[in-house]
Amino acid sequence: MVKIGVLGLQGAVREHVQSVEACGEEAVVIKRKEQLEEVDGLIMPGGESTAMRRLIDKYDFMPSLKRFAESGKPMYGTCAGLILLAKNLVGYDQPHIGAMDVTVERNSFGRQRESFEAELDINGVAEDFNAVFIRAPHIVQAGENVEVLAKHNDRIVAAREGNILGCSFHPELTDDHRITAYFINMVKENN
Ligand code: GLN
Repeated sequence: MVKIGVLGLQGAVREHVQSVEACGEEAVVIKRKEQLEEVDGLIMPGGESTAMRRLIDKYDFMPSLKRFAESGKPMYGTCAGLILLAKNLVGYDQPHIGAMDVTVERNSFGRQRESFEAELDINGVAEDFNAVFIRAPHIVQAGENVEVLAKHNDRIVAAREGNILGCSFHPELTDDHRITAYFINMVKENN
């Protein structure tokens, strides 16, 4: 059994915990940076990346999150979590954690499409995944070691680079746990 941390500062924390538990593994809500040492993989939930960043700084999480990424332990970000993981952000000088070689644009599906659902073919995960997008970002550019897992209207919305997984949408808001299971498998393979 592996232990999966869910960064518990802001956003859809409980939903990710439920998804990990539905896959039969243990989830730990991470509220203090010291707890990162107890887990084998970390999920960064969707929510609001600016609010999450404020809390990351307030509780001095950033150096520990960067170390976690450098250690090679798997990380998985959904929506705001993907924004936190990206190496480059359109319109910003500095990334947040900056661990995944992608350029991400925030809120990039436009106002009139603030939230929508789409069926996605996600390579290695599912051919018919019902994805929920809420003020979603997308990956504008992916580095050469990044494997594109899914596109929607020609935009990259799910990708993996080594032990880092990111998607624009919110698998945790549905009861389809196949992406969570895919991530758990990454964690098991890394252990
Ligand atoms: N728009 C949010 C942000 O920029 C992300 C939206 C989400 O996580 N649903 O952080």
